[in-house]
Amino acid sequence: MSEPAPAGYVDPRAHVRAEVLAAAGAGATVVDALVGSVTVSGHCVEVGTDVGPISADRVLLATGAFSGHGDTPLAGLDVEYALHTQLYVALEGDEADRLAGMPSIIAKHADPTGDLYLTPPVPDAVRPGHHVLKIGMPQDDHVRVSVADLSAWYRTDGDPATAARLDRILRGLLPELRVADSWTGSCVTTYTPTGHPAIDWVGPGVEVGAGRIACCVGGNGYAAKCAPALGGLAAGMLLGDPWPTEVDRDLFRARFLS
Ligand SMILES: Cc1cc2nc3c(=O)[nH]c(=O)nc-3n(C[C@H](O)[C@H](O)[C@H](O)COP(=O)(O)OP(=O)(O)OC[C@H]3O[C@@H](n4cnc5c(N)ncnc54)[C@H](O)[C@@H]3O)c2cc1C
Repeated sequence: MSEPAPAGYVDPRAHVRAEVLAAAGAGATVVDALVGSVTVSGHCVEVGTDVGPISADRVLLATGAFSGHGDTPLAGLDVEYALHTQLYVALEGDEADRLAGMPSIIAKHADPTGDLYLTPPVPDAVRPGHHVLKIGMPQDDHVRVSVADLSAWYRTDGDPATAARLDRILRGLLPELRVADSWTGSCVTTYTPTGHPAIDWVGPGVEVGAGRIACCVGGNGYAAKCAPALGGLAAGMLLGDPWPTEVDRDLFRARFLS
C-alpha cells in the first residue's frame, strides 16, 4: 500500500525538540535530569533526580523502555521488548539525487522475521552535504530483560548477523547502491499484553481513586505516529477528565507481573 504525502517520516529528535518548545511555551519548566526515584510522600510526589529533589502534586511517567529504572511504582510492569538492529549507509556523491522521491517503507510479512523499515536518504547531521539512509529490523522474539541489560544492548552496535542480513536486503531493494560508508546501531521497542500503551494510575492511592502517579508506557512500535492522541489520553486522565467513551478503557490498563 502506498500512502502519498503528507505521509512520510518524522525526525524523532526534531519531534522531541518541538514538544519541549511547545511545553515551555505553554508555561512548563523543563528539567533535563535522570530520575532515580518516584515516591508518594504525604500529599505530594517526591521525584529524586540527579539535579536534586522535585515535589509535585501529580506525576506522569512516560519513561518508555526504561520504566523499571530506580525506585518506581512501575517496577514489575508487564512489558516485553523487541531488540532492533539498524544499518546506516552514507551515500556517495549524487546517490541522494538518484533516490529522490524514495518513500519510507515499512514491510510487514506473514512471517515476521522478514519485517523491516527503511527510510529515504536524509542529510547527515555529522557530515554536512552528505546523506544517510537507514534500514532496520527487530530480532525475532520479544524478550523480558532487566534495565541493566537494556542499557548494555543500547551500547552495542546491534546484532552482526542481523546487520549482514539488512545489508543483503538493502542491496536487493536498491541495486548498485553506491555506499561511501556504513555503520550499525541498536534500539528497543516496548510491548504490553494488550498491544496498546499502559495509560493508567499506578502506585499508592489507586485503589481508592486517589492516585498521584500515572503512566503512559509501552508504545508497541506505533507510538511515534500516534503521539498526540496517546499524550492526549494521558493528559486528560491526569487532569481528571472522563475517559473518552470511544476508546476501550481496558486496552490501556497497566498490568503487572504477579
Ligand atoms: C528503530 C525504531 C523504529 C520505530 N519506528 C516507528 C514508526 O515507524 N512509527 C511509530 O509510530 N513508532 C515507531 N517506533 C516506536 C516509537 O519510537 C515509540 O513507540 C515511541 O518513541 C514511544 O514513546 P515514549 O514517549 O513512550 O517513549 P520514549 O520515546 O522511549 O521516551 C521515553 C523517554 O523517557 C526518558 N527516561 C526514561 N527513564 C528515565 C529516567 N529514569 N529519568 C529521566 N528520563 C528517563 C528516556 O530517556 C526517553 O527520553 C520506532 C522505534 C524504534 C526504536
